Amino acid sequence: MPPDPFTLPASLPPLVAGVEGIVSGILFGLIFGATLVWLILRIRRDTAMAGLQAAYDQSLQDGYLIRRVVESTSDGLLVQKMSGKIIWANPAYCQMMMRPLEEIVGRNPMEFVLPERDTPTAEEIANFRYDPHKHGAAGLHLAQNVRSDGQEFWNQINVSFRTAPDGTEHAILSCRDVTEQVEHNQALETIQSQLAHNASHDSLTGIANRAELIRFTEAALAKANKTGRQIGMIRIDLDKFKEINDTYGHPAGDAVLINVAKVLKSKLRSTDLASRMGGDEFTIVCPDISALEDLSKIAKALNLAISQPFDWGEGTLKCGGSFGVALSEPGMLSPEDLLQHSDFALYEVKRRGRGGVAAYDAVLDQRYSSLSKRRAEFADCLRNDDLAFHFQPTLNLKTGAISGFETLVRWDHPTAGILGPDKILPLAEELGVMADLDRAAITAALDFKVMLQNAGFGDIRVGVNASGEGLLHPDYVMTLDKQVTRKRINPDQIAIEVLETVMLDRSVDTESHQRVIAQLHDMGFHTMLDDFGVGHAGLSHLAQLQLSGVKADRSLASRVVSDRTSNRIMRTMIELCDDLGLRIIAEGVETADVAACLRDMGCKIMQGYWLSKPLPANQVIPWLMSYSASETLAKLDAQESVFEEAQIKAG
Ligand code: GH3
Ligand code: MG
Repeated sequence: MPPDPFTLPASLPPLVAGVEGIVSGILFGLIFGATLVWLILRIRRDTAMAGLQAAYDQSLQDGYLIRRVVESTSDGLLVQKMSGKIIWANPAYCQMMMRPLEEIVGRNPMEFVLPERDTPTAEEIANFRYDPHKHGAAGLHLAQNVRSDGQEFWNQINVSFRTAPDGTEHAILSCRDVTEQVEHNQALETIQSQLAHNASHDSLTGIANRAELIRFTEAALAKANKTGRQIGMIRIDLDKFKEINDTYGHPAGDAVLINVAKVLKSKLRSTDLASRMGGDEFTIVCPDISALEDLSKIAKALNLAISQPFDWGEGTLKCGGSFGVALSEPGMLSPEDLLQHSDFALYEVKRRGRGGVAAYDAVLDQRYSSLSKRRAEFADCLRNDDLAFHFQPTLNLKTGAISGFETLVRWDHPTAGILGPDKILPLAEELGVMADLDRAAITAALDFKVMLQNAGFGDIRVGVNASGEGLLHPDYVMTLDKQVTRKRINPDQIAIEVLETVMLDRSVDTESHQRVIAQLHDMGFHTMLDDFGVGHAGLSHLAQLQLSGVKADRSLASRVVSDRTSNRIMRTMIELCDDLGLRIIAEGVETADVAACLRDMGCKIMQGYWLSKPLPANQVIPWLMSYSASETLAKLDAQESVFEEAQIKAG
């Protein structure tokens, strides 16, 4: 049988055994040699070390080495008697003090190194004794010292005590100039405290900011809950503050805010906190108050104080405010709850017409809590881009053709259902986001116009609403101009609809609005006065505005059949607009008889449910495709024959 290649033989053959012996011999030799070399090196190193140690010991005995160390170190070294008298100092110490050794030895450093303001009296120096047993006597100290040329520096001194063989005690001081580090630390501390101050204070007025108010209120509420007491909060919003900015400029507005903060601080107790929440809103917390009446009294006094005129530039400025007050309730821990209650009271003052004080109560809570919730939801909706835009068509009553669409905002509210502009606009105004809403509407309207163009409906005009705030936004005209250029839209195909109240209300900055409208008109946009006929605009105002047309308010148009006066007003308006070369669109037309009556009066365009409700963009093209102008005209004609029959019957 052939040997199994995988099984080792029981013993090695003799040749293999000989090789093994040689290898073992070589290995042994190598290990022995290496150990010998290591031993020799070790002995040589130990001998060298012993030599060095002996030389070092000798140097120490001679004092040579110690002298070299103390002379070359950069730290100042001093040996003092326990009375403080210096008996020895090294060159670094002399250099640090800028004094020769003979001026140092024999003196107490307190005589000549402390700045004048810190120098003890001669008697105190004479009576001075180090006490090594006193806590803190040994160890690190920091002192401001002065060199012979008067320059001050920070000296870090390490004090230790030694007892000589004869029993006398000495203080040994090691000194280091740490001015740079100390100044660096001081600068850091200044920056840190500045940052901490900025984080809790309003940069314009210097009083506490919102974050600090929340912290303060939280602590005050926690304390009040423990002691069973209540705390008071006063919310302030200045009245018509924007007018000061608009009339005298931003610096004047800033001066008013600074003055209000100053007056509030001067009138409050040291336990109260005055803060600026941002804009023209201030909040005060009074932890030591127990009755709402007292809080209202304080608020009234504060309003009187902040309303006093104060000097500014060549003249004076003054601005009053609206005040909402609230007391914390037992168990209330969240500052936000108290803020909300005082905010409801503040809404109430603003609603009543500004300039007074209102106190929070359950009725206000009911009135405003749903509004406040809706505000928060709306802010979320804006942030998440959840608003939708629908488009309502307008009809040319003469031809039956669709002449345009108005862009209308919609909010699909999770519980309240679909909310339209009548609910959304007041919220947006309250939140101060009208300009954002306008911008979103412009984008939606222009995208919609592009969609119409692409589908072959290029001559249908698209209207979009502009708020007073939006029109005055510095980017409004530019945004519009850029977008129409980029989307290749003729400005004539876009109608900017502005509320009559914005254009003609004397209490707001209508001149600026009118300037923007004129600018848009010059750029070729259609400019329309919205909700015309119910606001402040006298008919004579129409001539002085750069308008392409007006939209008659729904309350007029919808009553042309049922109400004689509305009928006459509408008829006059149509004639006047014709004379002035203005388009007129009748809004709110819900029935065929109203539409036919308007056509009969000479009104060319209408908008309303009779034609169509606002439609989502994706339904518009199918709607236009299925729309029949002749059918609409036939319905109008049919309605007119009903009128005629009725007139014949009436004789
Ligand atoms: P209302 O009577 O309804 O309170 O209206 P208002 O004119 O006082 O205006 P509102 O309170 O709604 O808005 C405050 C305005 O304050 C808005 C903004 O233009 C202006 N504002 C906000 N911060 C500053 C600021 O730091 N300095 C100045 N000068 N104005 C500011
Ligand atoms: Mg205000």
